Amino acid sequence: DNPAKADIGLVGLAVMGQNLVLNMNDNGFTVSVFNRTTSKVDEFLDGPAKGTNILGFHELKAFVESLKAPRRIMLMVKAGPVVDAFIEQLVPYLDKGDIIIDGGNSLYNDSDRRTHELHKKGILFIGSGVSGGEEGARHGPSLMPGGNHAAWPHIKPIFQSIAAHVDGEPCCDWVGNDGAGHYVKMVHNGIEYGDMQLICEAYQMMREGLGMSGDEIQQVFAEWNEGVLDSYLIEITRDILAVRDDDGELLIDHILDTAGQKGTGKWTGMNALDLGIPLTLIGEAVFARCLSARKEERVRASKVLPDISATFDGDKKEMVDAIRDALYASKIISYAQGYMLMREAAEIYGWELNYGGIALMWRGGCIIRSQFLSKIRDAFDVNPTLENLLLDDFFIGAITQALPGWRKAVGTAVALGVPAPTFSSALSFYDGYRSERLPANLLQAQRDYFGAHTYERLDKPRGEFFHTNWTGRG
Ligand code: NAP
Repeated sequence: DNPAKADIGLVGLAVMGQNLVLNMNDNGFTVSVFNRTTSKVDEFLDGPAKGTNILGFHELKAFVESLKAPRRIMLMVKAGPVVDAFIEQLVPYLDKGDIIIDGGNSLYNDSDRRTHELHKKGILFIGSGVSGGEEGARHGPSLMPGGNHAAWPHIKPIFQSIAAHVDGEPCCDWVGNDGAGHYVKMVHNGIEYGDMQLICEAYQMMREGLGMSGDEIQQVFAEWNEGVLDSYLIEITRDILAVRDDDGELLIDHILDTAGQKGTGKWTGMNALDLGIPLTLIGEAVFARCLSARKEERVRASKVLPDISATFDGDKKEMVDAIRDALYASKIISYAQGYMLMREAAEIYGWELNYGGIALMWRGGCIIRSQFLSKIRDAFDVNPTLENLLLDDFFIGAITQALPGWRKAVGTAVALGVPAPTFSSALSFYDGYRSERLPANLLQAQRDYFGAHTYERLDKPRGEFFHTNWTGRG
């Protein structure tokens, strides 16, 4: 008397869950919903879900029984122990082959663990990155599913229907096994930190370095959004810079200059340190937020630390173009570094990551969406085993073209005393990456001098180690 009829069930009717459910409903799927605070189920059915086919439940058992086999249950609850608690409550009602999907912002190692634990019980687990916030969830998010691959054919039609689409292609594809989906979401968030900081440095250069007005800068971002930098973040920056406060001044000029960080950028940076990958740009972006947070200390320092008080007296138009080049080239470096990290993680954690597919997933629906990501997809289409994005012909061309402006912008930032940590560290990375020789020979000598760490020689095979008694030689 309770025939299973729902295509998928969703637990967690906060803002993300509600919007995903409405999105699934729009795409023709019947959805059952459950929430810990059951009054929210009723409020949802009487409110935003009124007139839809959505089914609400107050009991988990009845909720589970309403689902077609294999059952597909998506959790959109607070990340952490709440996810484990729901899994524990659900499992007794499930059959082998049923699927649990966690769409929250879970740590990838939790998703690794859950995939393995549930696999032992015959339950298929998917940990999926969901990006794009409330708006994305409602009208098309970027979805990054990973976990137990056997579940993918069962969720693919739903996920690819509700995801954002660009040029007819869904911003959702299989990412990889175990925690790969949440890992890629973490890197996505790190890249988001980098993209935002890059834009902030361009803004600061124009405002503090070139002394441009807010309206002039707004105009520049509007122009940039029509070219290679065309992206969601440039677009919203253009819009933000046009908004005036009640007093007629630009609202942006009234906002306190301290930024918080919720942790995903930090996690990406920590993972890069663990894996030994030079993810310098995202690291600088996290540190720039940390420095911004020390507002009172900076105010005190600003009164005592000397300034070079240089003013820009060159051609502003030329310098604005150079800043654009610096932003574009640095962005390429950031994505190249992010891909280096994912490549290393795939190696270490045993994932087969779909690199071109990842660029496609990020191309729409999420905060870092941009035209530029199509170029990354193209690069991996041409060469799926591409060692580094910087070695792809398109990106070699793009960097070569931007390089003179990039150097000029970084040099000018240094000369004017305007902080540009991501522009300049990206350039240092580029110069290091393209250096056949780095000064690590001296470093190895120092290590051998004080700690007898030994060194290898350029004129001998790798793996042959030498030690010198440095003080005993003339
Ligand atoms: P949220 O505030 O992170 O979580 C609220 C949901 O979790 C509610 O359904 C709540 O139930 C449930 N919950 C919280 N503590 C619980 C507990 N101890 N036991 C049982 N249930 C509990 O909601 P959200 O912002 O919609 O996000 C959902 C997930 O998506 C999170 O993991 C979030 O990080 C992720 N995410 C969010 C965004 C975004 O833009 N907001 C974007 C991408 C991903 P009650 O109603 O009973 O309290």
